[in-house]
Amino acid sequence: HEFKTTYPDNNYTVHVGHGIFNKVMKHYTSHYNEVFYIVDVTVYGHFRDGILKDIEDPILIDSGESAKTFQSFMNLTENLLEQGIKRSSLVVVIGGGAAGDAGGFAAAVTLRGVDFIQVPTTILAHDSAIGGKTAINSSHGKNLIGAFHRPSGVIYDLEFLSTLPESEIMSGFGEVFKHSLLNSKEAARSLMAKTAFGISIDAIEESIIDGIKTKMDYVSSDEFESGSRKFLNLGHTLGHAIEYQYKIPHGQAIILGLYAMMYISNKTAENEIFDLQKYHEYFSGLDYPVGLLGEMDIEQMIDLMRHDKKNIKNEAIGFVLIDESFSPYFTELNISTLENYLSGIKESI
Ligand code: NAD
Ligand code: ZN
Repeated sequence: HEFKTTYPDNNYTVHVGHGIFNKVMKHYTSHYNEVFYIVDVTVYGHFRDGILKDIEDPILIDSGESAKTFQSFMNLTENLLEQGIKRSSLVVVIGGGAAGDAGGFAAAVTLRGVDFIQVPTTILAHDSAIGGKTAINSSHGKNLIGAFHRPSGVIYDLEFLSTLPESEIMSGFGEVFKHSLLNSKEAARSLMAKTAFGISIDAIEESIIDGIKTKMDYVSSDEFESGSRKFLNLGHTLGHAIEYQYKIPHGQAIILGLYAMMYISNKTAENEIFDLQKYHEYFSGLDYPVGLLGEMDIEQMIDLMRHDKKNIKNEAIGFVLIDESFSPYFTELNISTLENYLSGIKESI
């Protein structure tokens, strides 16, 4: 599959398929004199004798989130400069969302910006590799230092997903499920049916591809998040607070955030848009730690949501909900209303 973004200019293509990496890569690298490969060290370990065997002297970066520290980022940019990177070079970043964020940020700021290609290798990265947001972490919070920098292309070779550990499949699925909810009621329903007894890559492949299209639609129409791109935060307001508090993987926290979103959407609409009991059974059946919602400290959660970088006001918290026609909308909930909802959610668990 090939999908093109629909910005007014500087569009790029997202290539998705099995075993496409080397062929599509050749098409891009033929336009550049020097190509620098930045690869997550774990991913390189899995694929150095396979898909990645033709890559010479890649720059290996720390596995996962460690790549997003200041220290790792400094090593990475110094390394690129040491090896003589030029404005006219191409950077290719291979790894999950963390590698993509750190490598993408290096491409954004080294020499004030060089072209780069994203090669996502996790399920979650079907989301993070698209949209041009790049970042590293600060001691004040995640993703606080970054830039918008569009890739010149995204090559999503689904063969990479074959070595993903179970925990990463569960985490990545959180965003796949989110995209299905943003897509339509039917999309979410069919994804649930396909995963009723467990999540396999084969079963969700089609939904991953649909998720890519959904994400592309949102970011193409609102690159800098002044409007509808906000809808991609579905499940993320409480999700981020849970992720921070309980130190669980991002996508797992998002599943819990989506459950809370469903509860609040029902209450706000005064209608049963979501059958909560059904979702509760489904998520717990897949081993998501839904029980944490029954234990949460409401004041603590509210405090964390208030500090989310996307929240500007103090007396209300922005939420993306779903309405009766199954369309997402943005609203602000005042603190006391939210406290009531959160205690309702606790009781419903
Ligand atoms: P990740 O990049 O940390 O990867 C998770 C783990 O899986 C790491 O240990 C990694 O080494 C390993 N791994 C990666 N590919 C593998 C493979 N094919 N086989 C086996 N192991 C593999 O995590 P992630 O979940 O992909 O991404 C999370 C990051 O994405 C976070 O830092 C988050 O902030 C960021 N993110 C960015 C955006 C954006 O728009 N830029 C959106 C969502 C999330
Ligand atoms: Zn997310």
